[in-house]
Amino acid sequence: MPSRTPYIAANWKMHKTVAEAGEFVDALLPQIAATQSDVVICPPFTALTAVVERRYGTAVKVAAQNMHEEDSGAFTGEVSASMLVELDVEAVVLGHSERRQLFGETDEALARKVPAAIAAGLEPILCVGETEEARDGGQTEAVLERQLQADLAAVEAAGLGGVVIAYEPVWAIGTGRTATPEQAQEACAYIRDLLRRRGAAADAVRILYGGSVKPANAAELLSQPDIDGALVGGASLDPADFAKIVSAT
Ligand code: PEP
Repeated sequence: MPSRTPYIAANWKMHKTVAEAGEFVDALLPQIAATQSDVVICPPFTALTAVVERRYGTAVKVAAQNMHEEDSGAFTGEVSASMLVELDVEAVVLGHSERRQLFGETDEALARKVPAAIAAGLEPILCVGETEEARDGGQTEAVLERQLQADLAAVEAAGLGGVVIAYEPVWAIGTGRTATPEQAQEACAYIRDLLRRRGAAADAVRILYGGSVKPANAAELLSQPDIDGALVGGASLDPADFAKIVSAT
């Protein structure tokens, strides 16, 4: 099995000004200098450049939290992949449950966004995950299959290797309720199996767990065989906490 470089991403959501983002990166970098993992920071659009400029010469990558699938046009408030690439942004979070639930992001839009990101040279971090109601109803696998099939419909098998998948059960995001390592492993293994069935080199794809990851629970989650990293929200806002999660890889 190919070894997969661990991947730890900080999703800041709508937090941190330019000044705060700069302070965070200055505090974080010395604490993660020895890491062999991929460390990715996902600031709001306004702080992308502040983070990009500070991370030159380091292993840190920068991701946006969303993008539009078209390259330009009459889409007020939106940002395209080429605009992100121009800033030296390397990745983009797509399909976060907050965007799906609060901003009406659909699987149809994601089916266009994922290939648009790949075509522009951005690494998509595609988020999928079930609601509590779906889990209680025994629908977790059906939801994951439906989302992955729809969102990756236009991506060739060869391109799937460049996609990072984040399994984020909606009931665990920002709630303090973390999936057990067994629940998270089971879902991530299922996602890998779905990718394999799509003809992807599934053993090479990084699959992350996200949902109330903290320094105290990171090591156990990250030790599961199919969990290759974490997408961290709340605990990524503090450089010391985030550095501890990076150190857990
Ligand atoms: C997230 O924003 O993707 C997330 C997992 O948030 P939290 O870690 O706060 O649950």
